[in-house]
Amino acid sequence: MYEGLGVAAGAGLAVGAYAYASLWPGSRIFGAAITAPARSGELALTFDDGPNATWTPRLIDVLARHEARATFFLLGKRAAAQPELVRRIATAGHTIGNHSWSHPNLSRTRSSRVREELRQTSETLQQITGAPVKFFRPPFGARRPAVFRIARDLGMEPVLWNAMTSDWSEPSADRIAEHLMKKIDGLERRGRAANIVLHDGGHRDAAANREPSVKAAGLLLERYARSHRFVTLDAWI
Ligand SMILES: [Zn+2]
Repeated sequence: MYEGLGVAAGAGLAVGAYAYASLWPGSRIFGAAITAPARSGELALTFDDGPNATWTPRLIDVLARHEARATFFLLGKRAAAQPELVRRIATAGHTIGNHSWSHPNLSRTRSSRVREELRQTSETLQQITGAPVKFFRPPFGARRPAVFRIARDLGMEPVLWNAMTSDWSEPSADRIAEHLMKKIDGLERRGRAANIVLHDGGHRDAAANREPSVKAAGLLLERYARSHRFVTLDAWI
């Protein structure tokens, strides 16, 4: 099923364990990636698959209303087509990360192409904003050892997450927020910060409706405004 199975067998990992580890966050088999630190009171809102001409500006407004900063993992090809929007994210004080050029499943992509996907994206983002890109989140959370190695080679820290729900297929902002609050509160009880994923774009369909995700972000900002600090990934390195 995966190109990397030979490598897994060589490393003495069961095939099942490898398939699991390559697709699920929280697994540390492939070396440390940033999820969230073991301290409570901090939330990182992160948004994947943008920039999106409709939803990213609305999200920037919602964040501005709450004076909160977030991290945006952008697709290189969408960023290249909308440099003004990328600059707007950066100017608003948010952190910009690399989410690959075209959103392939990197656990099934050969290393030379992985490198190209990541390098081209970082280069494009840096050209637009003038700042180096320090964070990388693999599409689908899929990775194998080479993917993280390549990301680090290119000067980036790999980032996963610990609070996600299927906001891309959920029509109700309330439901999305409710699911995430449950996860955030569970992490809080265990003394852990939350690294929250929402989507302000669609990696397949740029016209996907992300209104529920944007609204859910607003609900989280309201609910945790007094009790928590909203941080970008920069606070966790
Ligand atoms: Zn994605």
